Amino acid sequence: MNAAITPPLTGFVDIVGERYALSDPGDMAAYVEEPRGLFRQGAALVLRPGTVDQVAAIVRLANTTGTALVPQGGNTGLVGGQVPRQGGMDIIVSLTRLAQVREINATGDYLIAEAGMTLAAVQDAAGAVDRMFPLTLASEGSCQIGGNLSTNAGGTAVLAYGTTRDLVLGIEVVLATGEVWDGLRTLRKDNTGYDLKQLFIGAEGSLGIITAAALKLFPRPLAKAVVFCGVPSPAAALRLLTIARETSASDLTAFELMPRLALELVLRHVPGTRDPLAGRHDWYVLFEVSSGRSAEAANDAAEVIFARGMEVGLAADGVRAENLDQAAQLWRIRHDLSVVQRREGASIKHDVAVPVEAVPELVERGAAAVADLIPGCRPLPFGHLGDGNIHFNIGQPVGADKQTFLDRWDEVNAVVHGIVAELGGTIAAEHGIGQLKRDLLVNFRSETELAMMRRLKAAFDPNGILNPGKVL
Ligand code: FAD
Repeated sequence: MNAAITPPLTGFVDIVGERYALSDPGDMAAYVEEPRGLFRQGAALVLRPGTVDQVAAIVRLANTTGTALVPQGGNTGLVGGQVPRQGGMDIIVSLTRLAQVREINATGDYLIAEAGMTLAAVQDAAGAVDRMFPLTLASEGSCQIGGNLSTNAGGTAVLAYGTTRDLVLGIEVVLATGEVWDGLRTLRKDNTGYDLKQLFIGAEGSLGIITAAALKLFPRPLAKAVVFCGVPSPAAALRLLTIARETSASDLTAFELMPRLALELVLRHVPGTRDPLAGRHDWYVLFEVSSGRSAEAANDAAEVIFARGMEVGLAADGVRAENLDQAAQLWRIRHDLSVVQRREGASIKHDVAVPVEAVPELVERGAAAVADLIPGCRPLPFGHLGDGNIHFNIGQPVGADKQTFLDRWDEVNAVVHGIVAELGGTIAAEHGIGQLKRDLLVNFRSETELAMMRRLKAAFDPNGILNPGKVL
């Protein structure tokens, strides 16, 4: 710990002990910068509490001293919610040490996880009792359950299982007063007044600090069939999605769209990858069908979708994974997309959603509009077609200056978000608002909605100590 720490910061250090209070800029470096490097401000301290009581004591002290706290999970958030604001006075509260499974019940199909468990650890714990926790994100090795709840994370399995909001039975939260609310109920039905847990889910740490959650588990599918196929256009992909839903209903567990450029970047930057198809296609769909019955049932269902797509000219060519290894290789193309874009220089990103039927129009109009604005830029719209959630990313023109391109972030945002608004969509589909989109919120929520949000914030956090400057 740094010797320059003075009151009231010393009080915070005393709560967790010197070993778990970081103040040296070098030690804090990994906590103050978010994954894209868009936000990087110093913090007064990083605290790493090891018990719920310690979290409560930190919040109680912050509430009396008016100290801003920034809850942090795995620091994989993409809107700057988990890192400090300018000024260097915020304290980061890392939940990483609260990482135990408190209870697991395969008959009741639930698992109570502490907030700092990584998503992958929760998936593994569920697997150990022959159950599944279906939330699936490319960041699952690092992101934490507390962060997943706080961002209402989506990912690739929303089509079948919903967002995180749909996967939570109960939560435990430290309120701004330092009081601990034990809402860790595991009931499947409970209409006893307002559903308070839902207020904290998706609140990005602005209403309370989540310390544990009761999560829904599901039977593990016996088999999954993964298909990667070339399609002529997003419109064709959408029609293929309709066929897939009609034939497979809830067995359709993922349906992802990506353009040719996405595949090219993966082939260029990820060693050991190869184009799964012989021919070249403008667009690709990766879809997955699960079965609780058998591998044959999953494979047959996938084949039917593909064959019907071929019959009507929607799918041009495709490959079905023959084994788990091949399935992982196909999924890797999709999961590595965030990483490979970074290798190509700067990207201006949009996490948007529109009604599913409007995705082709979003892609077409969005790509044309950004090309008009910045000739040579490389639109890379990809993502969860089944949810209408497209990551409308735009790569810098080849050889262009990175900063000159990034300086046009707001202009590009305005163009893409304008189209999204016209199509009845949202500018924050699954990553949240954080710092990145805070000033845009006013354009996309009515005065009535904003007033309700401000009243909620004032009621839960009257002294404004919980993640101030985020969301609102
Ligand atoms: P953090 O980044 O640490 O925090 C995120 C927000 O939650 C912050 O506002 C923070 O203050 C708050 N918070 C964290 N923990 C708590 C807590 N215990 N109590 C209260 N507030 C808390 N997101 C998706 O939805 N779908 C995807 O497919 C997806 N793919 C991704 C792929 C990559 C490669 C990366 C880097 C990110 C991706 N994300 C995705 C974004 C990110 O992983 C999610 O938002 C994730 O849920 C964040 O979890 P975290 O633990 O890292 O939270």
